[in-house]
Amino acid sequence: MSPTDSQPQAAEVVLQVSGLHKAFGSNEVLKGVDLEVRRGSVVALIGPSGSGKTTVLRSLNGLETPDGGTVTIGATTVDFSASRGKRELDQLRDRSAMVFQHYNLFPHMTVLQNILEGPVQVQKRPRAEVSAEAEVLLDRVGLLAKKDAYPFELSGGQQQRVGIVRALALKPQLLLFDEPTSALDPELVGDVLAVIKELAEERWTMVIVTHELAFARQTADEVVFMDGGVIVERGPAAQLLSAPREPRTQQFLQRVLHNY
Ligand code: ADP
Ligand code: MG
Repeated sequence: MSPTDSQPQAAEVVLQVSGLHKAFGSNEVLKGVDLEVRRGSVVALIGPSGSGKTTVLRSLNGLETPDGGTVTIGATTVDFSASRGKRELDQLRDRSAMVFQHYNLFPHMTVLQNILEGPVQVQKRPRAEVSAEAEVLLDRVGLLAKKDAYPFELSGGQQQRVGIVRALALKPQLLLFDEPTSALDPELVGDVLAVIKELAEERWTMVIVTHELAFARQTADEVVFMDGGVIVERGPAAQLLSAPREPRTQQFLQRVLHNY
């Protein structure tokens, strides 16, 4: 379970986002977002509800079409202010994989069928090969015995671990997590965070939207604070979380810490 396309040079930029803009009607949600993530590094994206975090992730994964700005993942660049070529967008979609807040597993498919869907139907890879890889991944997250179960037979934590395996099976260059534990009962959070921590140790390149600040401090190389559709502040995890420079970051962190 190691990242694909690993190259010797450690500092290569995997994700580059410049000037990302997105409006829903008159609601300007992203007002020029810039972001850079280097290979093997983990960026935690934090910020208040409604600040645009999910819209950023969805834009990277081709689920949302921004109005302007560029996104580069690996060798693919899409300039949203110019062309909206379907081929480029398909390439962009293929380079990242998303783990959703509410897992989004297909209810009528077994665990294994859910995992195979993307690699076999979309990526057109051989079913037997993907199946074998999926079983290894399921074993790693302790769920091989559940491969023929349906989502409703699993706990939220188990469904989310399947969600992670489904993302890994796509062999993406970039993993995107949108509040992966916020829908879980507290006692199920730990197992999911442990899996993500392992992926960080294996040097997967990841952007993680999370409110789990202790986890962000332990796992992320960099923390990015977003508010009102812009990135307000970024920095090494320990620095940003303990000694933020911007008043808005300070206020947010105080509010979040008081809630826990
Ligand atoms: P966050 O993830 O930080 O809570 P979101 O990116 O989900 O923020 O949302 C940012 C803003 O965009 C919110 O005001 C939300 O209501 C709005 N928004 C998000 N998705 C849509 C959509 N599909 N249609 C209309 N408004 C949306
Ligand atoms: Mg969100």
